[in-house]
Amino acid sequence: MPIVAYLISKGQNVDITDHNGYTPLMLSAHKVIGREPTHFLLKFNPSVNAVDIIEKNTALHWAILAGNVNAVDVLLEAGSSLDIKNVKGQRPLDLALQTKNRIIIHILHEEEKIRIRRTSVFLRFLEKNEFLLLFVSSLLLIWTVGYVASLNSDSWLLKGILLMFMLVTLSFFARLFIGFNTMKYFPVTFLISSIFWISWTCFISFLPNFPDITSQLPFFFGTVGLIYYFYKTVRTDPGFITSTEEEIKKNIINLGESGSLNFRTFCTTCLIKKPLRSMHCHACNSCVARYDQHCIWIGRCIGVGNHAYFILFLFFLILLNIWAIHGTIIYWSERCTTTYQKDGAWMSFTQIVSCSPWVLYVFMLVLFHTSWAALWLILQIYQIAFLGLTSHERTTLWKQSKYSKHPISLRKTPYNLGFFQNIADFFQCRCFGILKPNVIDWTKQYTLMLNLAKDRHIHPV
Ligand SMILES: [Zn+2]
Ligand SMILES: [Zn+2]
Repeated sequence: MPIVAYLISKGQNVDITDHNGYTPLMLSAHKVIGREPTHFLLKFNPSVNAVDIIEKNTALHWAILAGNVNAVDVLLEAGSSLDIKNVKGQRPLDLALQTKNRIIIHILHEEEKIRIRRTSVFLRFLEKNEFLLLFVSSLLLIWTVGYVASLNSDSWLLKGILLMFMLVTLSFFARLFIGFNTMKYFPVTFLISSIFWISWTCFISFLPNFPDITSQLPFFFGTVGLIYYFYKTVRTDPGFITSTEEEIKKNIINLGESGSLNFRTFCTTCLIKKPLRSMHCHACNSCVARYDQHCIWIGRCIGVGNHAYFILFLFFLILLNIWAIHGTIIYWSERCTTTYQKDGAWMSFTQIVSCSPWVLYVFMLVLFHTSWAALWLILQIYQIAFLGLTSHERTTLWKQSKYSKHPISLRKTPYNLGFFQNIADFFQCRCFGILKPNVIDWTKQYTLMLNLAKDRHIHPV
């Protein structure tokens, strides 16, 4: 692949054909099973619908003939036509039916459905607003469970049947109108919906139990901080590394001629030289500078640009949840007639359930979000302050140490500059001139600065 990149950068035509009219894309789709190098060639904008001279097959036809599922997938993503017929009058789907490859038949059927949907104005409108639909579905899902549990009936069987019915209806609606690509954002919408119902319950049920403004303040402070830092984490560029086509070609030629065009230094998807500490995220389809993780709760990458906002988002999420736990305990002590000391654990639990099932349900949501956020925040603080590493670097080093004969210390890396310096660098804070943060542009950092490294014998991760 690096050689292909080098040749194309030097001006070689990506659509050049052999004497049978086969383009490189047709050959890769037919001869090499897997996503690469077809996906790689598509980066150079080849003609996806070109046909060969003899069979009149497109690259998609050839991928189907070879049973190359991954190549079929990337070719469809690149917009390969489903209507071009070969010399025998076969469209790609006809060929798939002939080869009896069930996965490819399924993929082509699904793609055909998506393309038909795009021709309808109403369905196109729904597709554009799929995220909103998913968010509304999550709001309804969380509300439905709490509402059914709170119904004024002693029959849990009836409640169970009703809940099942409502969940099946919701999932049917979601499957009908929300595509698979949007469904991956379900954790994000689940988190936002949870925060909405938690804040709603705090506002309606808990806030009146707090008599003065000082005890109410953490709720408002937590909610505003949470919304602000969630927004900042999502909207701030995590450090996506972008290059123009000219820059990419120049880079490939330089790397090729210096003999360093290899997978350690070169990203075959973005076609760029990888900066130090960067990593390619397949979900975001981009290299991210000082990559930490692709966070399912945020729905995008955490990198150098939004890492500090992410930490503050976790902090405010925990703050709001701790206030909600405090509010729940006060609510129970004022509304429920029994106590743990007086009637024992089981009696007080049944009282809590019958007193307000909704509050118990929201309390469980609060506990769930508090547990993962607290664990995550502790781990993040430990990595940042004590190790000077990102989550990706820590797990990579940990895996390396498992297979290495010599123990690898997570503390002895070039990025660990001591507790205070690590904090100063991460948050870029001077603390009234006490600290001096290093200003490094991780989107353009390709070599380790030796004055930063404490132990110069250790290679960067
Ligand atoms: Zn990349
Ligand atoms: Zn990502």
